[in-house]
Amino acid sequence: MSQVPTMIDFRRNTQQVPSRMPLAVQKATSKFLGNRAAVVDAFGNEQWQVLRQAGHDIRLHAITHIEHYLEMAEHAVTRAGGHVHWARDAAEARRILLDIASRHRVKLAVKGKSMATEEIGLNPALEEAGIRVLETDLGEYIVQLKGVGPAHIVVPAFHLSKEEIANLFHEKLGVDAPAEAEKLTQIARMKLREEFLSADLGISGGNFLVADTGTVVTVTNEGNGRMCTTVPPVHVAVVGIDKVVPDWESLTVLLKLLARSATGQKLSCYTQFISGPPRSPAETGPAEMHLILLDNGRSRILKTPECRETLLCIRCGACLNICPVYNHVGGYAYGYPISGPTGVLFASQILGPTVAGALPFASTLCGACNEICPVKIPITRILLHLRRRVVEGDESEQAAAPVYLRVGAWAGAAALGSTGLYRMGSELLKRLQAPFVRGGWMARLPAPLNRWTMSRPFPAFAADFRRWWRSRTTAGGKRGTSEPGA
Ligand code: SF4
Repeated sequence: MSQVPTMIDFRRNTQQVPSRMPLAVQKATSKFLGNRAAVVDAFGNEQWQVLRQAGHDIRLHAITHIEHYLEMAEHAVTRAGGHVHWARDAAEARRILLDIASRHRVKLAVKGKSMATEEIGLNPALEEAGIRVLETDLGEYIVQLKGVGPAHIVVPAFHLSKEEIANLFHEKLGVDAPAEAEKLTQIARMKLREEFLSADLGISGGNFLVADTGTVVTVTNEGNGRMCTTVPPVHVAVVGIDKVVPDWESLTVLLKLLARSATGQKLSCYTQFISGPPRSPAETGPAEMHLILLDNGRSRILKTPECRETLLCIRCGACLNICPVYNHVGGYAYGYPISGPTGVLFASQILGPTVAGALPFASTLCGACNEICPVKIPITRILLHLRRRVVEGDESEQAAAPVYLRVGAWAGAAALGSTGLYRMGSELLKRLQAPFVRGGWMARLPAPLNRWTMSRPFPAFAADFRRWWRSRTTAGGKRGTSEPGA
């Protein structure tokens, strides 16, 4: 359901998060983390670390030889009778898909869960062209009925209670729905089955693209993905170019990492391999198969050495589940269909600092995401680089941080680099802060310095921090005082 965002105000978005969201999110994420911990434990932690390193190396090799593997995949898909399209950006991907839909006079398209199609804002474009588009993953179906996008990259409607879903079904589908998971699933399944049979087009994403056979791999826990890619007469897969992997051996490693990290399973219920349309009348499936290879900023990410490991992501969602920020605000505050730490990396780089400059700051930099990531992406290191880019700009992007922040960062760096300036600055701060200090704390600061004090007091600056620090660390000093301004 997502539109491509034009401006993301993370802070404002967090203020609109419903008060029950953190509890709902934490209930779900703690379950995922518990399941993950159990399967990793059963696998053996030492072995797991070996597998993570292998996953990292495979993905890094794939993206640093991306042209070679994409060409290999293109040849294999074409050889198998499929059609390959290259989309430089979201607009081009939408246009290609709309062309295919219009050639086949599509009235109804069914979709499996796909972050790439969310990223390009496909659903609104199809609807604008008069094509009804139906999400068929249960979670996506629910959020589509609600008129919103996914709140999590693996479990899009996990923040909604059974009661909320039952009410939604009653309101939108006109059915009496009891608040029971099994009954609600049955209702959705009945509704969707009718639609699968009358759909003219099936759309999917792809978790991986195996280069040597041109195979699109989808990993799901519901049968809907299989229905989307086999029942309608035409199938289009929209796959980010970063999803390419060299061969089936690499795939085996990544599938082991993905299922365990995403849902705590050894393997997802359905792992589907699509290598072109049927090659003989004995085979069934859509007569036409298209693969749209989506760049949309990925080549740019690849060109930046500090950031290119972003593209290793296998979208398992583990970094969302462990992230303290995500756990407090949920997915919608990020203003982008891919949320949490990985969403921050992608949105910041795909949309650029003018649109998404607030996102790299939506992190405590605690590093839990680095530790849990199955392909060892150094998320916080990339975040720091992106923060610097927002403040300083670089050869391709203008600085997007407000002037006061840039001047503040510059002044802070200058003061910390010179003893004389530091002393002068300390003295100046002491005088400037005096009207706001009560008992060593500042309860309220004027805008634009008030972000911190909106939710908690700020400790007053010490007149001479170095003397204060020495007094704490010498034998006679009082350790443990929490008031540097005292
Ligand atoms: S960054 Fe790592 S942990 Fe997060 S979704 Fe991607 S692969 Fe999973």
